[in-house]
Amino acid sequence: MKKFLCACAAIFATSQGAAAADGILNSNLIEIARKSLTSVQNQSFSSGREYCGMIGLTTAGELIVSPARRGRASGCDERGFVDSSIKPVASYHTHGGFEADYDSEVPSVDDVDMDHHRKVFGFVATPGGRFWMIDYRSRTAKLVCGIGCLPKDPRFETGMAGDIPEALTRKDLVMRKRKGGPAAHRHTHEVAHN
Ligand SMILES: [Zn+2]
Repeated sequence: MKKFLCACAAIFATSQGAAAADGILNSNLIEIARKSLTSVQNQSFSSGREYCGMIGLTTAGELIVSPARRGRASGCDERGFVDSSIKPVASYHTHGGFEADYDSEVPSVDDVDMDHHRKVFGFVATPGGRFWMIDYRSRTAKLVCGIGCLPKDPRFETGMAGDIPEALTRKDLVMRKRKGGPAAHRHTHEVAHN
């Protein structure tokens, strides 16, 4: 874990210095989130558990990653930084392994609410290898890149969650949750094309 921490801490937030939280969302942050998620995707698939962590900004303007913690099948409690001078700027977590009846290809309403509450951006990796960014300001999940752009669970079946748009507002996610699991979306998808 130490090696992991050091590798990520070596990636600096260019010369922006102590950027304001809003200015921190740039390609460096996204790249660090991508690497952090990539490193735990396979463990997440084999254990069927979520893995999570935080990305913080040091007073020197460097981005630093907390080691990923193993969570539950559905849920994971990221811990902040012991050093209180490190400002948390983003959370990251995986969605475990592929389950046909679990709507894990999109961030959950709770994911959006949690990041909004903590005022941090969120990054989510799905079993299908989708990479999402949660913008805590607009409470919107935006697809950074689609199926297979992060490691993908070999058991993943494309299309099991129906059509997934590239952006989902919190309201969209609430509606999606109300409809039921992925099977409900598959059905909608099929009907729409009949
Ligand atoms: Zn989640």
